[in-house]
Amino acid sequence: MIYVDHAATTPLRAEAKEAMLSAMEYFGNPSSMHKAGQEARGLLGSLRETLAGLLNCSPREVIFTSGGTESDNMALRAAAIEGKKLGKTHMVISAIEHHAVLHTAYALEQEGFQVTYVKPGRDGIVSSESIEQALREDTILVSLMYANNETGMIQPVEEVARLCQKKKILFHVDAVQALGHVPMALDVLGADYVAFSAHKFGGPRGIGGLYVKKTAPLYSFMQGGSQERGKRAGTENLPAIAGMVKALEVSLRNLEEDRKRIAYLRDQFVDTLSEIEGVTLNGKMEGRLPGNANFCFHGASAESLLMMLSEKEICVSTGAACAAGALEPSHVLLAMGLTKEEAGSSLRFSFGSEMTDAELDTLVESVLQVYAAQTGKR
Ligand code: PLP
Repeated sequence: MIYVDHAATTPLRAEAKEAMLSAMEYFGNPSSMHKAGQEARGLLGSLRETLAGLLNCSPREVIFTSGGTESDNMALRAAAIEGKKLGKTHMVISAIEHHAVLHTAYALEQEGFQVTYVKPGRDGIVSSESIEQALREDTILVSLMYANNETGMIQPVEEVARLCQKKKILFHVDAVQALGHVPMALDVLGADYVAFSAHKFGGPRGIGGLYVKKTAPLYSFMQGGSQERGKRAGTENLPAIAGMVKALEVSLRNLEEDRKRIAYLRDQFVDTLSEIEGVTLNGKMEGRLPGNANFCFHGASAESLLMMLSEKEICVSTGAACAAGALEPSHVLLAMGLTKEEAGSSLRFSFGSEMTDAELDTLVESVLQVYAAQTGKR
């Protein structure tokens, strides 16, 4: 099988699996007073410290969650509660956010918030100027992702962070696709909330975190115990946390080497496909995650291409959400100005460093074959 869908999820790193197995020995509940509990609590504390060191923040600024979706919800909900208190009920959200952010924003609109959705340019980048234009006196939060999950386009988050600091507006960054793949120091980034998820960098699924700057408001949106400083109730998933921290440690240690390998694979792929009549790259090459390529195969159905590739044991993605059995065209590509037909003809390829050169050749040949089978072009 050739797996080219690392933006959806990544294989578990061997080191992370090992760390999870060791952590399973710490079976006590970290909230228990006895020895077993204290041992588990000790491990939890040291994992939080290691993670904070990797993120360049304080251990108190890390909240463990069940993943990117929960972290995004938590950040938007915290800002909403704060906004209500201050009488500020407007939010600025980029139109290319993941549904974890967009659907939370839609829910907040139902609850009385006004949201301005800011579109990207044709290159897939939401400019800081367009964010600035959308700000109002009563804006409580701006949300802009670090890198888009469909196009891999990296957004001007540091610029927007400076803008938000100047205007005293909370800033949320969904860094789910970026952490572990590009160098990132949270103290330099300057956001109030940063969401991340372990399964995008070789950790297990169902675990992630939210960085919350010391000065940023945070409220629990679940009722229960007083774990995570009373902000996120529920017994901590110690093995998953251990797997996440180890996966991030290894990802960051190998970052430069992996980036080079992944970018090499992606660049070869892009160079070959760009020569095919009817195939165009969505977004641009500069300022893109190293492993991402998103192509429009004009005149073909992305869904059919995906199924034909899947029959050849090649896993890629349409980047489209599957709602009630019907494929919706990608909201990201539509926001960039692609037509419905173009969005419905687009496939996302997201590479991992484990791909061999022989697999790359098979991938290229197979993509050319399935496109030719549908359109006669090659
Ligand atoms: N945000 C982005 C940008 C994502 O790509 C994803 C997952 O695809 C999520 C949030 C949701 O993360 P999780 O699967 O950990 O809930």
